[in-house]
Amino acid sequence: MTRWRFAAATDTGLVRDANEDALSVDETLAIVADGMGGHAAGEVASSLAVEVITREFHQNETVEGLYAAVETANHAVLADAVAHPERFGMGTTIIAIALTEDVAGIVSPTLVNVGDSRVYQLRDGALRQLSDDHSVAEEWVRMGRLTPEEAAVHPRRHQLTRVLGMDETVEIDVVSVAAQPGDRLLLCSDGLSNELTPDQLVQLASPPMPLEDAVDKLVAAAREAGGRDNITVVLVEFDEVVSTMTPVKKTVSTAPPAIAPPRTSRRRTSRFTWRVGIAIVVLMGVAVGFVGIMHWYAYSTYYLADDSGVIAVYQGQPNGVLWYSPRKVLDTTYPSAHLLPADQRLLAATIGEPSLASALTYAKSLNQSWHLARSIATTTTTSPTQSTTTSTTPVTTTTKAKG
Ligand code: MN
Repeated sequence: MTRWRFAAATDTGLVRDANEDALSVDETLAIVADGMGGHAAGEVASSLAVEVITREFHQNETVEGLYAAVETANHAVLADAVAHPERFGMGTTIIAIALTEDVAGIVSPTLVNVGDSRVYQLRDGALRQLSDDHSVAEEWVRMGRLTPEEAAVHPRRHQLTRVLGMDETVEIDVVSVAAQPGDRLLLCSDGLSNELTPDQLVQLASPPMPLEDAVDKLVAAAREAGGRDNITVVLVEFDEVVSTMTPVKKTVSTAPPAIAPPRTSRRRTSRFTWRVGIAIVVLMGVAVGFVGIMHWYAYSTYYLADDSGVIAVYQGQPNGVLWYSPRKVLDTTYPSAHLLPADQRLLAATIGEPSLASALTYAKSLNQSWHLARSIATTTTTSPTQSTTTSTTPVTTTTKAKG
């Protein structure tokens, strides 16, 4: 069995107006959160994250239950920011130690971390930082670009590379802690670690200093050193420790949302967006081209048809194309009845003409054929040339298409 005793303290410090840190500690879970965001949003982010992680972890006290609790908290903070736009951009760090049960039923300590709050191990008068800071400067130290001494004064040492509650996905460090009876673990926000040296931390937090006195002295020392930020400390001491047979040390990336590409970095996301953007532009071009071609095709032809006893000229395909219906352009002066029987059938067949002029010429020729046949039948002396002169040039009345 693994057991600990604990003490905790938090303080606004000397400079800040409000305390945006939050903490929780009980028999199996210790958490510190350092919130950020204007208009009290930082307090909301840190307290909401602590509340959700505590509630969720106690329903499943395993390693998986622990990081699932952090994932749930991430979504809860994000959802709250979406629901309250005045809190847009809020977020929080999270550092927690939980006593998790493995498949063999062994309970042992596990650390989860997002951001730059810290866990130190105190053993035999030595201090060891168990968590990695997720800040630009510290990431550069791990990459070999900066020395720890350079990072300690680097302008980007406070710029976080991971924050809870700002994105759908968050990367969570999950690490088994190998502890011994008598070990102390110190969880703190940067308001403590920025103000005090490692030597001060060892001196104030180590046994035989009682836990309650230690947290009070740590906060008092940070205030004395300037108290420029909120100060939060949780100190636990192991009475009994069992180590798990299946230790973990990994970074868990939380499940991405269903519509996003899986497991994206910022760079991949932007490339994906570019590809989608180009694809959309190409598809829109194809769609516009298709509509244009269909429009051209739909109205590329003219035809003649009877309209209330008069031959009318229509533009369009007789049966329409997609959503394009034919539209009447004009009525000719030729009655539909003045057509030869064969031409009556041609009119019903709606023969296409390439232009308005050719459609009108065709209507005229149909009318002339009728006049010619009629004059031959009634007047034997009239010459065909005279007959043709009797027909008139069509006087047209335009009819505005309804569209
Ligand atoms: Mn802080």
